[in-house]
Amino acid sequence: MPDTGEAMEYIILIAVIAGLLLGAAVGLVVSGKRRKQLPPTTPQKGSLTEAPPAAAVEEAALPAPAEPTEAEAAAEVPALDVPEPTAGRLVRLRSRLSRSQNSMGKGLLALLSRDHLDEDTWEEIEEVLLVADVGVAPTQELVERLRTRVKVLGTRTPDDLRALLREELLALVDPTMDRVLHTARHTEEEPPRPAVVLVVGVNGVGKTTTSGKLARVLVADGRTVLLGAADTFRAAAADQLQTWGERVGARTVRGPEAGDPASVAFEAVKQGIADGADTVLVDTAGRLHTKTGLMDELGKVKRVVEKHGPVDEVLLVLDATTGQNGLVQAKVFAEVVDITGIVLTKLDGTAKGGIVIAVQRQLGVPVKLIGLGEGADDLAPFDPAAFVDALIG
Ligand code: GDP
Repeated sequence: MPDTGEAMEYIILIAVIAGLLLGAAVGLVVSGKRRKQLPPTTPQKGSLTEAPPAAAVEEAALPAPAEPTEAEAAAEVPALDVPEPTAGRLVRLRSRLSRSQNSMGKGLLALLSRDHLDEDTWEEIEEVLLVADVGVAPTQELVERLRTRVKVLGTRTPDDLRALLREELLALVDPTMDRVLHTARHTEEEPPRPAVVLVVGVNGVGKTTTSGKLARVLVADGRTVLLGAADTFRAAAADQLQTWGERVGARTVRGPEAGDPASVAFEAVKQGIADGADTVLVDTAGRLHTKTGLMDELGKVKRVVEKHGPVDEVLLVLDATTGQNGLVQAKVFAEVVDITGIVLTKLDGTAKGGIVIAVQRQLGVPVKLIGLGEGADDLAPFDPAAFVDALIG
């Protein structure tokens, strides 16, 4: 018979083994349950995305990585462009007018310097002005004035002629017109609201490019800008505008493709008010300018936007290379919306700088900006004196 001491040892040993077995069993059950909670490692039928592998799930439970340092965060934000200052842009870009300069400015000076200013010469002078798209009435006026003044002048030194031509061309370009671009926020109103600029014109004249360049002009002048991509008929136009905006930190409001342009324009202004923007710039659609459809639509865009308050500027963009065609477009647009300013694009590489005079005459509206190239900062506030100086060379 084993003694009691031995019996006790057996009992303790059995209890320890039983305890160990029980512990192992519980452990197995718990770990089995945990495993069931993990997502399957193979994709489920019908799911759109691949399930993450188990390792990824376990990683998700790890503590979040340390916050990026300030320097790292700054490196991730794309650097914004710093647009060129707008003052003196036309002077800097004056060589871009070289074709107008050569055919118009230099041509006129050469003719006026001839020894004998006979009828043929005056006709040639007229021809130069007409070819440069100055327009019939302004051409006749200018020739008349030049004839009278040259007679009075007596001897004609090159400097005299240059000064005379400068003065007369400047009078035609009209330095008295108000060319201020109204883009300042209406702080006097309660609640304050941004200035609203509509950019209108037919496709291809450079409307979207001009909207983008204008955003840069305004940013360079210290304004905060919001862009509205109301040309909903071309997805590329909205993308293009957004890219321009992103380069200078301007947000773009856009709508669904082929959506209602007026509603995009309305939303853009609404967002501009919410953001406290200085200026909302709305790029509009420009197809089929001869069809009443587009014109009705443009009228509607303006009416709908004006539910937020009056529009500050309606800028008509015209391609300077299209001559008479541009003037016809200008007339059609002016019948639908009150144009407050003209943007003449592509004045680089055309000999038709005189269109500035013709279009202002036709609409009675000032040219406020001119496009002198495809570069981001090739849009200049129009300055009559600098323009005439550049023309004469
Ligand atoms: P939209 O259809 O009226 O919006 O015209 P875009 O803005 O798409 O411009 C049409 C083309 O004209 C683009 O290739 C522009 O780069 C070009 N363009 C716009 N403004 C100027 C300018 O002042 N000079 C030159 N040379 N090209 C320009």
